[in-house]
Amino acid sequence: MAWYCSGSSNNELIENLSRGGLIKNERVKRAMMAVDRAHYAPSRPYSDSPQPIGHGATISAPHMHGHACEYLINYLRPGSRVLDIGSGSGYLTHVFANLVVDVSSSEGLRGQVIGVDHIQGLVDLASHNMRKSEDGRKLLESERVKFFKADGRRGWPEGAPYDAIHVGAAAQELHPLLVEQLRAPGRMFIPVNAEAEQGSLAGVFGGGQYIWVVDKKEDGSVHKEKVFQVSYVPLTDAPK
Ligand code: SAH
Repeated sequence: MAWYCSGSSNNELIENLSRGGLIKNERVKRAMMAVDRAHYAPSRPYSDSPQPIGHGATISAPHMHGHACEYLINYLRPGSRVLDIGSGSGYLTHVFANLVVDVSSSEGLRGQVIGVDHIQGLVDLASHNMRKSEDGRKLLESERVKFFKADGRRGWPEGAPYDAIHVGAAAQELHPLLVEQLRAPGRMFIPVNAEAEQGSLAGVFGGGQYIWVVDKKEDGSVHKEKVFQVSYVPLTDAPK
């Protein structure tokens, strides 16, 4: 169904995602409207499908970006701290920043989004893409958005704790180091390979990947829920 949501402009794409029920929250809709995908996915920016961005990576489909924001929205408030692992094109990092940084208030100015990717070319690309808009330049100059080259499986402890952690590539496990870096309360959105939990039976029943929503409650207890099946590239070792 997702590809019916494609549009001929950024506004049309986001309106179609909204009409199709893939984006429900008004704040998510506004934050996505305010970032032109053409700055991040130049080949077919308004198509609701993944697109190549070089270095063997892809920008995820717009409806997946929408889902990620919808699941995390209660943790994306002005002033929140966010970690975006596998930041790739930088698109979603920018959308998150629109949700947590309100440049018009001192409260909002405390918000920050850290984007982490393990390929230097993509870390550079994300900043380059963000500089294409005035808002993006402001977010970088004020250091409300920062990109780092690192292995995302270890998170970015220097910036912890995070109200929200988004993982943009499929993990082998619910990395404990990431859960540790969540604030209490906080939420993580992470695709995980089913093999990791089902062992050898995954081969028999097809395995697959699922989005897990991991909540750290105020008392520090951790609750995990498997929410839907997906298809992400894996979180891997950095290419040599
Ligand atoms: N969310 C981004 C990119 C998704 S593609 C977007 O929509 O544009 C997945 C990204 O994860 C790629 O950029 C890839 O380089 C990165 N990645 C894969 N393994 C990683 C690891 N171990 N640490 C950090 N980034 C990783």
